[in-house]
Formats: sequence, structure tokens, C-alpha cells
Amino acid sequence: MAHYKIGIMKGDGIGPEIVGETIKVLNAVQDIVEDLTLEYNYYPVGLISYQENGATLPKKTIEGLQNCDAGLLGPLTTHIYDTENPNMVNPSGALRKFFDLYANIRPTKKYEGVDTRFNDVDLVIVRENTEGMYADRNMHFNTGEFMPNPDTVLSFRVITRKGSERLARIGFELAQSRKKKVTIVHKKNVLRKGCGLFFESCHTIGESFENIKIDDYHIDAFAMHLIQRPEDFDVVVTTNMFGDILSDQAAGLVGGLGLAPGLNLGDSFLIAQATHGSAPDIAGQNKANPVAEILSAKMMLEWLGIRNDDKSASKAAALIDCAVEEAFKRNMKTTDLGGTLSTTDFGDKLIEIMENSVIV
Ligand code: ATP
Repeated sequence: MAHYKIGIMKGDGIGPEIVGETIKVLNAVQDIVEDLTLEYNYYPVGLISYQENGATLPKKTIEGLQNCDAGLLGPLTTHIYDTENPNMVNPSGALRKFFDLYANIRPTKKYEGVDTRFNDVDLVIVRENTEGMYADRNMHFNTGEFMPNPDTVLSFRVITRKGSERLARIGFELAQSRKKKVTIVHKKNVLRKGCGLFFESCHTIGESFENIKIDDYHIDAFAMHLIQRPEDFDVVVTTNMFGDILSDQAAGLVGGLGLAPGLNLGDSFLIAQATHGSAPDIAGQNKANPVAEILSAKMMLEWLGIRNDDKSASKAAALIDCAVEEAFKRNMKTTDLGGTLSTTDFGDKLIEIMENSVIV
């Protein structure tokens, strides 16, 4: 019997709604798949946590997660956090840094039933998650932004061989079970040292994956190719900020942010978290698309299955995947995709499909 402790953090904005639907779906999956138990432990993060505990990421959340097998995190309205306030850290960045979740895996897939310009998009952006230009996580002490005078800012970008090689390894391993192609995205013609080191590190790792085809692009050219011929790409490995931007762009090719899942992966812990933000404009209206968060939880189960050699978790992931595909085929969609379903209605329909599924 596989038993996993999952740390649940609802987050801000639409977070409680989409995390709530995800838990509903996980509960249904547990009832259907034999030998799988998910134990939920709830931990505070975000603005509500700031009000109740005095911090957006209280110590008890980090301590609690250390006793879990995985985390499920909702989005956070970090742009309104006061960066001068040490109790208002960005929980996403801080958790990625604390647990060394160095690979942010962000898949983009075309679903039948969702109108898009392309018919065969199925790619994964593997983004470095702990260094690069992200000031909240690329320094041991303080942030990577400095202000020598009121009119000058220096923003540091950190690239290390270790960070690049371990990221590349995840990308190449992923490509083994996919279309066996890795694209390295960089800007080494200008950032000769930083992107040069990233490129070289990816190639070093690629040498031990003889069956994987490698190509590479400058970020600017790749941004164009991604919108002209996204069907040609499989696994894309890239640095932190390039990956953040490209993954939102890729989501736009298949229906938008509501369909953009993500997993923050380290060697000993992982946190599932949709790519999108907290969408304050639609929060509390039962309008948000929960698919990105649900598919993030699916990725969590997939990796728990791989790392624990556990068929029940893999089966649970496959069940969710098939149910989402089937829902779209039957034109069951939330309003962001041109449908009529509310957040909770979509969750209910998905569960109905799973309960009648033949794959278990
Ligand atoms: P952040 O900087 O926190 O990533 P963002 O600038 O990317 O945030 P989002 O909060 O992701 O912004 O929202 C961008 C737009 O996409 C908003 O109009 C929002 O309503 C919409 N959106 C985001 N996520 C969803 C979702 N799950 N369902 C429906 N619409 C969404």
C-alpha cells in the first residue's frame, strides 16, 4: 500500500478554489485506484498566512513540508507583497531555494476540443529554478539586486556548472520517454560566459545520452520558431528567466494559462504548482480553470510513481490525464476556454468521467 503525505498550501487569489478542486479530484482518484493513500497536511502561505501568522511563509510551513513526500502549492499574489518586509517573502521562490527544487518542468500540450492554431503541440520546457536572474533566490544572503544610487540598479544573473548540468540531466532523462529530442535555448552570442557555460554543461550531459538528438537556438530566434512551428519541439532546456517567459508563451499556443501545469523538482522533494499567477481579477467567482493545478498534481503523482517505483501512483496520474483529455473532447470547458462550466462544475465532471473510466 503506497501512502504519501502531501503538504497542501492554498495560496492567494484563485488558489483556494483551484487547490480545492484538485483535492476533490485526488480524493476521487484515491477511491478508484487500489493501494494508494494520500494524506493531506495543510500549511499556511500567502496573504492569509501573513494576516494570521505574521508571515507569508511561516516557519511551521517549512517544518511541516520537511515531513511530507511532496507539496501542492496554489498561486500567490506576490506583486503586492512588500519586498522591504522580511516577513513577506515570495513563498514560491523561497520554497524552491530551501528545498533545492532546481528543475521547473512545464509541459504544453494541445488537447482535442480546445481551439488552437496548431494541432500537434506536445513539448516540455525544463527551466532552471534556483539561480539565473531571479533576485529572490540566486544569492545565499540578501537578493541579487543592488542599488548603488537611486538611479542605478545592478541585477545579477547566476549560472553554475552544477545547476546547469543537473537541470540538463532532468531534460535528457525526460526526452528518453518522449520524442528523444532536446533543444538548448540560450543567448551565448551575447552572454558568452553565462550562457556559454549553460550550453557547454548541457552538451556535456547530452554526450551520455547517445540516442537523444540535440539542437540549440538563441532565445530570440527560438521565441519566433516556437510560435511558427511548435510541433517540431520536444524537450526544451533553458535558464530561469528564459524558461519563465517561454512557458507562458507556449501556454498561449494551446489555450492559455488555465492549461499550463508545472512541477518544481529536486532530488529529494517536489512541489506541484500551476504555471499561472493568482488571477485576482477572477478570484472568488468560481470562474477559474482548475486544469493547470489538477495537471500539476497529476505530474506530482507521476514523479512519485517513478521515484518510488509505485504503479498505483502512476496509474492515478494516467487516470487524471485521460479524464482531462476526455472532458475536453466532450466540450466540457471553463469560460477561459470558451466553455460554460464553473470551476466546481468542471471538477465534478472530471470526477464523473474518472468514475466511469475503463483504464483502472
Ligand atoms: P504572476 O506574475 O503572478 O505569474 P501573471 O501576471 O502571470 O501573474 P495571472 O494571475 O497568471 O497573471 O493572470 C493573467 C491572466 O490570465 C488574468 O487575466 C487571469 O484572469 C488569467 N488566468 C490566469 N490563470 C487562470 C486560470 N486558472 N483560469 C482562468 N483564467 C486565468
